[in-house]
Amino acid sequence: MGRIALVLFLVIAALLVLRALRLWLAAAFPVRSRPGTPIEGEMVRDPVCGTWIDRRLAMAARSGEEWVPVCSEECRARAAALPEAPTRTRAGQAGATGP
Ligand SMILES: [Zn+2]
Repeated sequence: MGRIALVLFLVIAALLVLRALRLWLAAAFPVRSRPGTPIEGEMVRDPVCGTWIDRRLAMAARSGEEWVPVCSEECRARAAALPEAPTRTRAGQAGATGP
């Protein structure tokens, strides 16, 4: 009987250790976001005024054929008034992530 209690105690102790280890690993090495999903706090550049803004806070403005991130209503109006984007946005700047 005492042996069974000891085995049970060891199993529970091992499970607790594994759980603590997993929690510690999750805290020490945060899971990176999968490709395609916006990275938290990723900065994008407003092609109108050149300001860097948080992607989540950026407004979308139509400039020519593409959507560009802008910082304000004023920049959105200016982007819409432009026939083409002043500088051709590279991948990653206008929301186009990946190859
Ligand atoms: Zn702007």
